[in-house]
Amino acid sequence: MKSILDKQDFSNLDKNEIIELLQLRGSDELNLFKKANKIRLRYRGDRVYLRGIIEYSNICKKNCLYCGIRSGNKNLTRYTIKDEEFYEAVNFAIKHRYGSIVIQSGENTSTAFIDKMTEYIKEIKRISIGKLGITLSLGEQSKETYQRWYEAGAHRYLLRIEESHPELYKKLHPQDDIHDFDKRYRCLVDLKEIGYQLGTGIMIGLPYQTIEHLADDLIFMKNLDIDMCGMGPYIEHPDTPLYKYKNNLLPIKERFSLTLKMIAILRLMMPDINIAATTAMQAIDPMGREKALQAGANVLMPNITPKKYRDEYLLYKNKPNIDKNPDDNICCIESRIRIAGFRIGYDEWGDSLHYFRNKKGI
Ligand code: SF4
Repeated sequence: MKSILDKQDFSNLDKNEIIELLQLRGSDELNLFKKANKIRLRYRGDRVYLRGIIEYSNICKKNCLYCGIRSGNKNLTRYTIKDEEFYEAVNFAIKHRYGSIVIQSGENTSTAFIDKMTEYIKEIKRISIGKLGITLSLGEQSKETYQRWYEAGAHRYLLRIEESHPELYKKLHPQDDIHDFDKRYRCLVDLKEIGYQLGTGIMIGLPYQTIEHLADDLIFMKNLDIDMCGMGPYIEHPDTPLYKYKNNLLPIKERFSLTLKMIAILRLMMPDINIAATTAMQAIDPMGREKALQAGANVLMPNITPKKYRDEYLLYKNKPNIDKNPDDNICCIESRIRIAGFRIGYDEWGDSLHYFRNKKGI
């Protein structure tokens, strides 16, 4: 009998086909991962690109109902990294030949924050002699701010839509002006228009979310023509309103396996984009990130935030590696990538080929 995996062209999967793929089990599921890995090797090679992530501040003006650092959570100490600590992390990335860094933070639209980020971006370019690629993950900002940071030297932006259905998005966020789906979508369009390599992503296994939603999420990413994706399983945090649904969620292993399938299907649909193996995968399975790489992901984001702040940037519970310094991580990452069958792209930006193909109109 013919299987959906016998298809020759996966670039235009329809919703029913995606649902069929998401429901694969056992050897069919493994064959899906193998197929995605093959496509990844053909289009993106065997390199894994490192983006050292600096979690700059856990001060956030938003109150997303699933997030551990939401403004309404009083059970954590708020922090902002000091300049010297920030540059120490940047120098760590340069020394260990990470090709890029990601600056991530709770959402802050103050002038002081915008100015500080502009200064950091310019300074990173200067001290790395242009070597470090810069991805920003700083939430919703005005188009002018995005433009300013782009002109300062940032060239990739990750803004997860988290859930692409406006109705479901509403259930996951407070009902007010600053948690508005249309506004978030507008930001994605602005980023693309400015010329950033655009990244988005979702959480998998959220309360109320169905397999149909997930299929639509993949079609959303395809239609938005993204260059990068970071998606991970939803892991509940006790200090959040959504925690009350903890007994109604899919079992955690099912969320993990669905995430692997989402990565693999997206790789088949968009062969030349960058896909991250997110830390949330490792929170569920010690080999989670390696399994994600073998299912089609090609980017890792090792945490290079100073250790003393890591306990306070817990977007979800059981986040791994919070008790380790960056130095403890590097050997571990290298050997894990090698064992998984890949090589690190040292000193390489590892940009999205999709972005350049689009630019050239190929
Ligand atoms: S998900 Fe992002 S924007 Fe929402 S509360 Fe958490 S850090 Fe803030």
